[in-house]
Formats: sequence, structure tokens, C-alpha cells
Amino acid sequence: MDKVGVIIGINGPVVKAQGVANFKMREMVMVGNKKLIGEIIILEGDFATIQVYEETSGLTLGEEVVSTNMPLSLKLGPGIIGNIFDGIERPLQRINKISYGFIPEGIGLISIDTEKKWDTVITVKVGEELKEGDIYAEVEESTLIKHKLMVPPGFNGKVTWIKENGNYNIEEVVVKIKNSQEEYDLKLYQMWPVRKARPVKERKRLEVPLITGQRILDSFFPIAKGGTVAIPGGFGTGKTMTQHQLAKWSDADIIVYIGCGERGNEMTEVLEDFPKLVDPKTNTSLMNRTVLIANTSNMPVAAREASIYTGITIAEYFRDMGYHVAIMADSTSRWAEALREISGRLEEMPAEEGYPAYLPSRIAEFYERAGYTKNLNDTEGSVTVIGAVSPAGGDFSEPVTQNTKRFVSAFLSLDRKLAYARHYPAINWLSSYSGYISMLEDWYEDNISKDMLELRGKMLKILFEENKLQEIVKLVGEDVLPDDQRLILEVAKILKVGFLQQNAYHKDDTYVPIEKQYKMLKVMEIFYDNAYECIKLGVPISKVKDREIVEELNKMKYNIPNDDLSGIDKLEEKIRGFYKKLINQYKQQ
Ligand code: ADP
Ligand code: MG
Repeated sequence: MDKVGVIIGINGPVVKAQGVANFKMREMVMVGNKKLIGEIIILEGDFATIQVYEETSGLTLGEEVVSTNMPLSLKLGPGIIGNIFDGIERPLQRINKISYGFIPEGIGLISIDTEKKWDTVITVKVGEELKEGDIYAEVEESTLIKHKLMVPPGFNGKVTWIKENGNYNIEEVVVKIKNSQEEYDLKLYQMWPVRKARPVKERKRLEVPLITGQRILDSFFPIAKGGTVAIPGGFGTGKTMTQHQLAKWSDADIIVYIGCGERGNEMTEVLEDFPKLVDPKTNTSLMNRTVLIANTSNMPVAAREASIYTGITIAEYFRDMGYHVAIMADSTSRWAEALREISGRLEEMPAEEGYPAYLPSRIAEFYERAGYTKNLNDTEGSVTVIGAVSPAGGDFSEPVTQNTKRFVSAFLSLDRKLAYARHYPAINWLSSYSGYISMLEDWYEDNISKDMLELRGKMLKILFEENKLQEIVKLVGEDVLPDDQRLILEVAKILKVGFLQQNAYHKDDTYVPIEKQYKMLKVMEIFYDNAYECIKLGVPISKVKDREIVEELNKMKYNIPNDDLSGIDKLEEKIRGFYKKLINQYKQQ
């Protein structure tokens, strides 16, 4: 028998019920005649407070609340990749077809397609012992992703029966396992509660970068696979753009993109844009490796709160198969606002700026689910979490930005002044940081060059020095500076224009292989070193600064194709030749 309670209060997405003493905390419930999906967030004796994930208008007192006997959970199986879900895993396109754009109330718990048939290969034999996490079947979910069906955590047993390979929907039992206590049917999906991190065997040290093709990231503020990143910035500074660039270009196997509380049209762009994009490595649609979760500002606020957990649970599930997953949330500030709104309805004691006192722990819980792991089945995978933060007025001192900063290791600080000056990406190189440098040192040495990180340090130092010098320049002008300092200004200008600025709309500049990034920086260094030598010999800066060379350094991002870097070598020769000649001329005088 279903357990049944009754509605005694309705306050927006928050509903109170009575007669629920035998319900469980965090249990998922069906609310009212329309069977709206909700979750018990407070349970006191016979009374419950329920957070409802759908529009509650039209609900009336006295209607029933029915238990589902399980926590808010996701169906995890083939049909996730390429799909677009709302915050509680309901497929928006399928719903669209039924109802022209609105999520009909009480549509219930539909999630991944239960009718679609998948070409299934059973990978175990009768008599085999299976432990939790072990793979028992495989399905080509998309042209890029092989979906591995895994024994759910907490289960194990000997295979007693298998179905022959064939086309099955996710409800089909394909393997049976049995241990001393029970027999268990394995289908083509498993359920998992969204708020609980999926277990792993071991958390590993982060030592491999997530390559993004974005120069300021890969070369200056690298992200580790399994790492945590925040991208804070005021309105229009490029948070969404940066997240899109990462979704399109980063070398993760799978992208989970959560459009969280932002304007609907921004999400529409994603929905229109992403399916058209072609994965450069495989030449197929990017959707073959992407999952979209859309909870725009016009959708129910409680589902927005849940969308973060839905996203990260899906990410962990694919990680468990041995994939590298990157998850982007745009924006976690809108998510925090959902928390605040619900907390207000609950009449909880507000803390800073009206946010609940548990805001920091919730933010921490989200980022803590990132990591590079050895999974239950001994595969390795990772979840990299990249959250945009959108503080009102771009004021980073507010609670969401400050608390996020505590829990992430890389901080890509977007700068209004840079955006205003059309320096894109508007990531401020003075206030951004990556805590992954030392962990990635070996990788960069082994895969790019022994001196890559040293080069990075040298170039960052030039940028910092330039910043200091600009103070003087502002007061008294550039002319009073000695030539070696004026050279710093010149090199910094080249770094900014020729390297840090990267045009997301330019076909070649939008993604740059790290080998090219390295060579670009290297030839800029060679320019600096040679020019510096001349200046030390007393050659005036006016002679040292060659307009043609500077122009070529600034333009190599456009003029030198990503797949043929010989042009950089030629430029290097030209630079060396030019300064050698200059030095000789000077010595002869
Ligand atoms: P936010 O999400 O922070 O409000 P957006 O990501 O929408 O800001 O960026 C605003 C605009 O800035 C974009 O529409 C685009 O024109 C410009 N922009 C941001 N980053 C880049 C980039 N890397 N290359 C080119 N244009 C950019
Ligand atoms: Mg945005």
C-alpha cells in the first residue's frame, strides 16, 4: 500500500503535509491530484515540508501526498547522451513534442526513453562472480560513447542467467545475479539518489590537464582533469562564452552542461548551437558526447536547486565507466538564489545577504564531487567541475563568490574593464590563479617541453611588471622609463594582443593546440631575449622595436595555421637574424 498524507499548506514551491509520520526524510513524493514531483526536506513527527519541483499554482489544501519509497533519484542508462533534460531529468524535447514547450504539470517521473531499443552486447558469462561496479553489458549510445552497464553500488553475486545479445529497451532484464541473500535483476539502467556522491575505490592525485585550446587557460592557468574551477564575472564579461568554449573544445570525453537560472534565450542559443557543432577530433556532432540540463529563469525554482545534483550525478555515472567528464554550471549564483528563495519560504534564519547559513556547505558539497578516481571496476575516470559565478554588479565580495573561492582550486576572474576594452577572453591574468601548476608540472615537462612552466613564469612576471610600470606611465608618461622597462611594456603588449586575446569567433583562433601555444610563447621569449641583449648593449629602443616583427608576433595566431607551425620557426629565424645584424651594426659604430 502506498503511504498517503494530506496537504495542509502551500507557499510557492514549498508545501506542508500532515499524516506523513511513516514517510522518510529526503523521500521523493507525488504531490496533489496532478502528482507533482516533490521531495521531503523537513520531517517532524506527523508533519512534513516538501519542496516541489513543478508549478504549484492550482494545487489545493486537502489533496493527497503519496510516497514513492525512494529518495529523489535519477534513472541512469542509455539515452542520456545527446539528451536535454530539466532539473530532475525530464526530457525536454520529448515533452515539447507532447505539449508544445510547456512542461505539463504532473507529467510525473518520465526520464530517459523506456521504449527505444538499444543494440546490447552482454559481456559476462553464467557462473561469473560480479562485484559492485563491474560491467555486464555494453551499448553504443552514440557514435562517440560506448555506454557500459555496471552492477549498482552495494550489489554483487554470481551470474545465474544472461539474455542473448539483441535489441532491448532499458526495462529489459539482461542479466541475473545471485548471492547468499538474494537474486537481483540487472536491466539497462540503475537508479541513483541525486544528493549522494557515487562511491569510488580511490581518489587519485590530479596530474593530467584538461586541455581546452584556450591559451590563457592551457598556458597560464591550467585546469586539471578532476579539478574545480570557478569563473566569476559581472554581466556581459564572458562567463557563458567561456563555458561554451570549454564545452566545445576541452578534451573531456563527455560534457554535462547545466544552464542554470539564466535567461531562456541564452539556453536557446545552446540548444540551437550545440547540435550544429562538430567535434573536431571525430567530425561528428558535439551532441554525441554532450548532455544538456536546462533550467532557465522562467522554470520552477526548486528544479533549479536540483539541477546541479542531477548534473553531477550523471557526470559521476559516466566517470564510473572510465570516462573523463567535464561539467559546467552557468550559473551557480542563480542556483544559490534558488536556495535562498526556498530557505526564505521555509522561514529559516537568514545569514549573509539573506542566503541560508548552509550555503557554504552546499557549495562545498557540489565541488567536492569533482575528482580523478579509480572506480569500483578499476577503470579510471574524472569529473572536472567548472562553475560560473555571476555576482550582482560584478562585486566579488558577495557570499557566493567568496564561498566558491574557498572550495575551488582554479579561479578565472573575469574583468569588466577588459571586456569593455574588448580584450577577450576577459580573464584577468593578475587576479586569476590555478592551484594545479605543481601537480601538472611532470605532465607539461613530459608532453610539451621541459621549460614550458618556466616560460609561463617568465611571461607572467613580465605581465606583472608591466602592471606596476603602468602606474608610473600614468603619472609621468612612458618616455621617462629606461629602455629595458620600455621593452617590458612592448613585450607585455605583444603578450596581450598576440597571445592572451583569443577570438572565439575566428575559425582558427577559437581553438589552439597546446603545441602552438608553447611555440608562440617561445618565439615571444626569443624576441624579448634578443631585444633585451641589444638594449643592454646600448641600442636605443626605437631601433630595437621593429614594427614588422611586432606585427608578425601579434598576428601569428591568425596567420600561422594550427596544423603547420613551420611559420613560427621562420619567424624565429627572422628575429634572430634581425637582432644579430643590429648588434653587428652597433658594434661597428
Ligand atoms: P556573461 O555570460 O558573463 O554575461 P557572455 O559570455 O554572454 O557574458 O559574453 C558577452 C559577450 O562578450 C559575448 O556575446 C561576446 O560577444 C563577447 N565575448 C566574450 N568572450 C569572448 C571571446 N573569447 N571571443 C569573442 N567574444 C567574446
Ligand atoms: Mg551568461
